[in-house]
Amino acid sequence: MHTYDQLKDIVLSRADELATATKELALQIYNDPETSRKEYQSSVLIASFLEEQGFDITAPYADLPTAFKASIGHGQTHIALLGEYDALPDIGHGCGHNLIAAASTLAACALLPVLETIGGRLSVIGTPSEEQGSRKIDMIENGAFEDIQMAMISHPTAIHDVATIFSYANTDVWVTFHGKEAHAAASPEQGINALDALILSFNAINALRQQLKSDVRIHGIILKGGEAANIIPSLTKAHFMVRSKNGTYLKSIIQKVGDIFRGAALQTGCTANIDIGHTCLNMKNNKAMAETYIQSMAELGQAVDLRCNSLSFGSTDMGNVSHLIPSIHPLFAISDEELTPHTTSFCLAAGSSQALEAMVQNAKGLALTALKMYIDKDLCAKAQEDFQEQV
Ligand SMILES: [Zn+2]
Ligand SMILES: [Zn+2]
Repeated sequence: MHTYDQLKDIVLSRADELATATKELALQIYNDPETSRKEYQSSVLIASFLEEQGFDITAPYADLPTAFKASIGHGQTHIALLGEYDALPDIGHGCGHNLIAAASTLAACALLPVLETIGGRLSVIGTPSEEQGSRKIDMIENGAFEDIQMAMISHPTAIHDVATIFSYANTDVWVTFHGKEAHAAASPEQGINALDALILSFNAINALRQQLKSDVRIHGIILKGGEAANIIPSLTKAHFMVRSKNGTYLKSIIQKVGDIFRGAALQTGCTANIDIGHTCLNMKNNKAMAETYIQSMAELGQAVDLRCNSLSFGSTDMGNVSHLIPSIHPLFAISDEELTPHTTSFCLAAGSSQALEAMVQNAKGLALTALKMYIDKDLCAKAQEDFQEQV
């Protein structure tokens, strides 16, 4: 019978052995960034790495061409480490998802030498298109997490090391207004102005803000605003994102935003087509798992806070996974200076040696968190209890 300390030594020494190789993996993904839905090369790189280590690969997975599942082991407890690897248009890895993929890969590989002894099942699930498309939601619908009890993913950030995140519930909404084109000077009275409907919508949404709770965010862009200044626009289109702390409250706001579009159509004589997309749920940070992560990082000499109120994360489809099974989404610092994700400076940091070191440290923390979950049935039960209690 091995003690935790003995198992931990084995896990950490394997992590050290593979640190250089996984840093190279992170850099390979970094140097050839692929945007959402196009992560073909990145997903193959990660899956091949895991296959070489002995994982069984299913790719594509859950009906998504750039998703994969790498599995190994037997036993009741099945833990999944999730990997994101999509980049941003023009910016590259400005959200550092190259590091997420590498961290989950390294954590999983570090657990391999002890997996048979502790009798656990382990998967790395490649979850593509987080930035655009929130594909974890499709993966949930396609049964990708059905046999998994717990999920973990980590994300790079600046300055703070923190075990939990606050993320908004978020719904994408698209509206298309159909009007009637006409010569804007010769016969404007014959036109129906679809751009007016759109501008009225933006103004009404701005008025609505005053009557909403302070945690609500509504932001949008015009995708199509007309063809020429001397043609009354007959077709306009906008994309809005509507966010709130709470999914139920979010639904009521979506209804109000829909009313605004319908009202704008009525005012202008247009017709409105409203397309409501997926809803990313707020992150339900599992308390027992988060505390275990903090303890694991402390064993590595790294202090991690339970939460950081000054840090806002936007939204993530990991929120939906966290409402399905106990999950954590810790953040690890890749820079000592303030950085904003989705910027060129964040992208530069995501390829730095400091970031790669932080990725390795974080992977070790994830591996030790999983190790504790595998060997401590009471802790597993506590994670399930917390999951039932939390909203
Ligand atoms: Zn992002
Ligand atoms: Zn991200």
